[in-house]
Amino acid sequence: LPVVAVVGRPNVGKSTLVNRIIGRRQAVVEDVPGVTRDRVAYDANWTGRAFTVVDTGGWEPDARDRAAAIAAQAEAAVATADVVVFVVDAVVGPTDVDEAAVKMLRRSAKPVLLVGNKVDNTALESEVAALWALGLGEPWPVSALHGRGSGDLLDAILAAFPAPAPAEAEGPRGPHRIALVGRPNVGKSSLLNRLAREERAVVDPVAGTTVDPVDSLVEIGGETWQLVDTAGLRKRVGRASGTEYYASLRTAAAIEAAEVAVVLLDASEPISEQDQRILSMVDEAGRAMVIAFNKWDLMDPDRRYYLDKEIDRELKRIPWALRVNISAKTGRAVDRLAPALRTALASWEQRIPTGVLNQWLTALVQETPHPVRGGRAPRVLFATQAGTRPPKFVLFTTGPIDAGYQRFVARKLREEFGFAGSPIEVAVKAKK
Ligand code: GDP
Repeated sequence: LPVVAVVGRPNVGKSTLVNRIIGRRQAVVEDVPGVTRDRVAYDANWTGRAFTVVDTGGWEPDARDRAAAIAAQAEAAVATADVVVFVVDAVVGPTDVDEAAVKMLRRSAKPVLLVGNKVDNTALESEVAALWALGLGEPWPVSALHGRGSGDLLDAILAAFPAPAPAEAEGPRGPHRIALVGRPNVGKSSLLNRLAREERAVVDPVAGTTVDPVDSLVEIGGETWQLVDTAGLRKRVGRASGTEYYASLRTAAAIEAAEVAVVLLDASEPISEQDQRILSMVDEAGRAMVIAFNKWDLMDPDRRYYLDKEIDRELKRIPWALRVNISAKTGRAVDRLAPALRTALASWEQRIPTGVLNQWLTALVQETPHPVRGGRAPRVLFATQAGTRPPKFVLFTTGPIDAGYQRFVARKLREEFGFAGSPIEVAVKAKK
């Protein structure tokens, strides 16, 4: 899906605008300064066109290094978006901080839409003219709070999307997209270097393929893959406060842009909260996942024992994730990544024919029917696979079913059909 990033300095109304775009009134989260938000990408739809909105508004930089922080924010957004919406407070007018961000935005090749926000009435509309001075073209007067002008803005956003490739409806064209993610120092850059060396190729973009300038084409296991946001891997942004927030923003955006994520964990250290957050991001985004335990060269029998226990405990939520034990340093088992990626993607795209699905389901619910509740037992009548990438199933039932039973069906579905490396969704539609 096309990605829209909303950027701008604090208090210009970014979150309100994001809510307006995704059609939600409530604030996404409380606007607590310094709060790190994991989920920054939201699904949106305007006149039938689906797209993703990336919210960069969850963090307010210190006054000290505001300009640097905003630049980093704009950079992260530009790295991951197809269209950038740059928000300025029309009542305040353009500030130095705005101008610094504009410089960065103008260097990018991405289309930028300039929004003058807080134009709550006609009288304020004339203020917007001052924004021409930023040199980003025509400013769009908007009141994110009241909705004024937001329809016109959305039309303009849609018009700025890159033309969809002709075959997009049938699924992706070109190389599969991978995100390589993990907390700092797990060895992401080392693995990237190893892959580039071992496979002798960080491939140059081929003429005619559309690859983001921040991505790299890498050959792994004889196949070309698109590594999402490798610019974020190579470069240490550092220094600016909120670096961690931007790292998290980039990670979330990379996962969103990818089809399959390689989550790197450091096998020589306990699985941390930050690791868990990244794993959850992948799970919640519904992406295929391969967990790579890196630094396996440091493994000793003691650590091995504890790691096994840890995996049982910490990765219980995502037993379906594929695992490989590698060493970016020595090159150990790095060649097992490609097969794991292929398996995970195949699961992610797997479609079970309706006949096969229902034959299996009929036998299952006959053998283990829903338990009786209040004298009645709801029955599962039928199932369909509503989608892929990841696989989504809908159970049609005679009434509401227990969450436990729903989980049971989901677990059995996996046992029967596999889906190794991919999350699956199971929803219920109860007859009224
Ligand atoms: P990044 O922040 O995730 O990109 O991590 P780096 O690639 O910069 O690696 C962080 C540190 O871990 C560096 O000192 C690497 O040399 C080291 N490292 C990376 N992979 C391995 C590995 O497989 N084994 C060992 N022993 N060290 C590693």
